Amino acid sequence: MQIDEELEKKLIAQKYRSLLKVSKNVRTKKDKDKIRKAFDIALEAHKDMRRKSGEPYIYHPIEVARIVAEEIGLGTTSIICALLHDTVEDTDITLDDIERIFGTKEKIIIDGLTKISGVVDYQTSMQAENFRKILLTLSDDVRVILIKLADRLHNMRTLDSMKREKQLKIASETIFLYAPLAHRLGLYALKTELEDLSLKYTEPEVYNEITSKLKKTKAVRTRFVNRFSRPIVEELKKQEVKFEMKARTKSVYSIYHKMKKKGVRYEEIYDVFAIRIIIDAKAEKEKAECWNAYSIVTDFYQPNPDRLRDWLSTPKVNGYESLHTTVMSPGGKWVEVQIRSKRMDEIAEKGYAAHWKYKEESSESSFDNWINRIRELLENPEHDAIEFIDDFKLNLFSEEIFIFTPKGEIRNLPKGASALDFAFEIHSEVGANCMGAKVNHKLVPLSTQLKSGDQVEIITSKKQKPNESWLDFVITGKAKSKIKSSLREDKKRIAKDGKAKFEKWLKKIEIRNTEHNRKELLTFYRLPSMMELYYRFEIKRLGLERIKELKIEKGKILGKIKEDLTEGVKPILKKQNSSEEMLVIGEDLDHFDYKIAPCCNPIPGDEVFGFITINDGIKIHKTNCPNAIQLQSHYAYRIVKARWTSQQQIAFLSGIKVTGIDEVGLVNNITRLISGELNVNMRSISFDSNDGIFEGTIMVYVHDTKHLTRLIEKLKSVPGVINVSRIEG
Ligand code: MN
Repeated sequence: MQIDEELEKKLIAQKYRSLLKVSKNVRTKKDKDKIRKAFDIALEAHKDMRRKSGEPYIYHPIEVARIVAEEIGLGTTSIICALLHDTVEDTDITLDDIERIFGTKEKIIIDGLTKISGVVDYQTSMQAENFRKILLTLSDDVRVILIKLADRLHNMRTLDSMKREKQLKIASETIFLYAPLAHRLGLYALKTELEDLSLKYTEPEVYNEITSKLKKTKAVRTRFVNRFSRPIVEELKKQEVKFEMKARTKSVYSIYHKMKKKGVRYEEIYDVFAIRIIIDAKAEKEKAECWNAYSIVTDFYQPNPDRLRDWLSTPKVNGYESLHTTVMSPGGKWVEVQIRSKRMDEIAEKGYAAHWKYKEESSESSFDNWINRIRELLENPEHDAIEFIDDFKLNLFSEEIFIFTPKGEIRNLPKGASALDFAFEIHSEVGANCMGAKVNHKLVPLSTQLKSGDQVEIITSKKQKPNESWLDFVITGKAKSKIKSSLREDKKRIAKDGKAKFEKWLKKIEIRNTEHNRKELLTFYRLPSMMELYYRFEIKRLGLERIKELKIEKGKILGKIKEDLTEGVKPILKKQNSSEEMLVIGEDLDHFDYKIAPCCNPIPGDEVFGFITINDGIKIHKTNCPNAIQLQSHYAYRIVKARWTSQQQIAFLSGIKVTGIDEVGLVNNITRLISGELNVNMRSISFDSNDGIFEGTIMVYVHDTKHLTRLIEKLKSVPGVINVSRIEG
């Protein structure tokens, strides 16, 4: 290939000039000189190198520096380090050179970058260690990660010239490691592009299909958007609002993700785009202006009240501020409209880097302060700095933990997960046969809670199988459902044995085995299915002596002998929290959607408060919930007032623990008292008996604390019962 050196020189100079142009954070002459010096050194060091595409190598560092400056919004130090990021690894330049010419900060960052590329790019089998290193490097200087992300983005943009297997490796690493990192750092635009590019190389057919469909439908979409926007645009202009309006199409990756998750075709995705109104307003006016725009939009189109998302008043923890509403368009299609200020939009796209643009002093020194605080936080997680991080909405590692397999692969688990959760995460078989675990080579019980960075090995045995108590210390849905289904299987097996014996017994007491009789028996014993009945029969928990309460003629059951007044009057009451009217929340004590926190299960009458969760709306906790202190001290600003309103006849689920001496008929007496005399609905009841002492857990639907207290008092009076208490948390 003929290389036109003159032309290349011109192009390099041009690229360098455009880098300076977009470097808005670089203002002083001194900074400009330093960047020039870094550029000259990189140019000289890479002068004989070319990329796979045949282009001069220097294009790459310049481009990475441009991404760092323009797309992430970083300043001089980062631009210098981006320009030099490959020099120490690939050329004769040493870290000492960097330190001598630029300074210690630059040396540390480039050292981090060199190390990361050493471990991440060439030995994927060492993933686990890599991840740990990346996290540790982050605590040195977050800029290492940011520049690495820019480096990766440029490599993804120029992946075409690589060999297929290299493309696959880089693309899957990107989706596994870099896109989630970008997401955590709040770099949404970057994250989206990384995801789309990864998909393009890992699943080119799907990618092409979605892209071409998006293209084909573009004209229709544009027409629709124009017609939809017109009245809003006119009104905003009339009110002299400075704004920008655009239609944002979902990313290819997120369309793909949705198709996969919901098992639908492209055509069935209804929210392919959203309309975004970006308002250019002064900081003190921005919220009011956004609500004004909302009012204009809803003057023209009917909003869906369930779909209003107000992240203006309470931003998301990751810093997202915006007002989302879904309105009905004239064509009968729901359209999402996002309203936000220019500042909010930039932060949403560029993450915390954009924050600095809106701070009074956006100098590098305040940036350094910020990095120092992060480091402090990482070194000492108990530190108050948690408030600080929340301020900056960089909730890096609080929601999930990273666990390593013995081979060094990473698994993500929710915080609070146990070794048993991890076993099920590996494979349901491994979970079901789990005997114990080694955490960091030390043998621990299955219930041990894991910490981020733990390396866990699961010990299995074919003889092991799930039991009920396992449910007490797993938190992942996967583990829970596998354990439950295994318990169900066990029950089925026991029920099968029970069936034959039960039928024999019926014959003996001269009750015919007819459909009618079976139904009568289910009603009588208040059981949901014959399987449950056979099961109880087999484990001797059915209460056979009660059969004499039935009136039987010629083998046919005619009903109960003694008329039970309460019979048949209890359809299962409404599910908990089905009414929005039960609770008022917030300063104005308004009605909001809420959920009952499972940790303390408050019911009407309890002292409560609301906690704004990240993904799950407002949760209602008891004031004396074991988690209350932590929530209130760490996240005071997410606490809202809450108080019960007038009591309606709605049932709340609550748990009662009963202990006593195991006597024949005791369980029957208890259940009869609850469902018969007190007219309370039971959801579940389970009893365990050990050496003559039984312990029972009863889940009941009650109306409020008074109702529950009465029930507890009554239960205490049952002969044989020693103690009755409400299950707290
Ligand atoms: Mn590079």
